[in-house]
Amino acid sequence: MLGRTLLWASEKPRVQRFVTEGKLTRSVVDRFVAGEELEDAIRAIKDLNAKKVGGILDLLGEGVTDPRGAEAAAAEYLRSINRIEATGIDTTVSVKLTQLGLAFDKGRCIDHLRVLAAEAQAVGTSVEIDMEQADYVTDTIEVYRVLRSDYPSLRLALQAYLRRTPADLESMKEVPPRIRLVKGAYSEPPEIAFQKTKEIDGQYRYLTDWLFAHGDDPGIATHDSSLIHHAKQAAERANKPLDCFEIQMLYGIRRELQQQLAQQGYRVRVYVPFGSAWYPYLMRRMAERPANLRFFLRALVRD
Ligand SMILES: Cc1cc2nc3c(=O)[nH]c(=O)nc-3n(C[C@H](O)[C@H](O)[C@H](O)COP(=O)(O)OP(=O)(O)OC[C@H]3O[C@@H](n4cnc5c(N)ncnc54)[C@H](O)[C@@H]3O)c2cc1C
Repeated sequence: MLGRTLLWASEKPRVQRFVTEGKLTRSVVDRFVAGEELEDAIRAIKDLNAKKVGGILDLLGEGVTDPRGAEAAAAEYLRSINRIEATGIDTTVSVKLTQLGLAFDKGRCIDHLRVLAAEAQAVGTSVEIDMEQADYVTDTIEVYRVLRSDYPSLRLALQAYLRRTPADLESMKEVPPRIRLVKGAYSEPPEIAFQKTKEIDGQYRYLTDWLFAHGDDPGIATHDSSLIHHAKQAAERANKPLDCFEIQMLYGIRRELQQQLAQQGYRVRVYVPFGSAWYPYLMRRMAERPANLRFFLRALVRD
């Protein structure tokens, strides 16, 4: 219930103004966001790289409603890719398609993403596509399909809570899809999304097995120890080496586990968001865990 309220609040501009212009302390934001500037994120990724953990660089922002906003986001991503080359950091780049104009001009969004994927490939990195609210799933998958043959390292996030995801994967089977598997972070109705933890986790396990059988370089994006264990076992059962898949987590969450896994020889990447548009991202993180909300409320009261 509380989680749903927070997810509702994450999409409401008036609540956003109240929180962002209110007394929210920087410390809460800092726990989950690397900073406002690209250089803050680069520093955070350098620290991760020193611990054998890769990065997934994310410019915060979503739901862009005009072409200039999409151009600006694409330009900032290009600048980021150039800085990745200049600094030699180990990171991919993650993009929300509504940031590149998916909601109002799919063709232009594809053009933007094509440029980013080409530039990333040229400097030896790759682009990942975040998955957003259910209304965008069909179009997001279509954009991935259009570009995947030209940019095979492109990775697409799919959500285990959606009932449709097994069918979506089956429909991509002819060329092994490169997927980041997540539980799903938005508030979706029961007709289209599982609501119970047991059902979501059950589907996550099923999809993990599917990806080990038919996918390319599965990205297991979760902080859930039992699901990570399941993926490790799936690799073992398939007689594959420890680094045949990637474990992905979010900046500021389960840092010790991230390092432990990297030390054990697993490939680990951490999603590192930066920028000033942190509000919806932060609210989704609050919704995932009551303890985060307590931390957040304590900071509000302390100010
Ligand atoms: C790399 C990465 C990329 C993602 N990309 C997308 C995307 O494109 N689209 C999308 O819808 N979702 C995305 N997500 C979010 C995802 O859908 C989940 O909402 C989020 O990962 C929480 O689910 P969980 O699998 O970690 O399991 P949970 O059951 O939520 O958590 C398992 C355990 O992890 C720890 N934990 C989890 N979340 C938190 C938190 N916020 N703070 C502190 N501890 C926590 C707790 O110990 C908890 O018991 C992404 C997640 C990751 C890790």
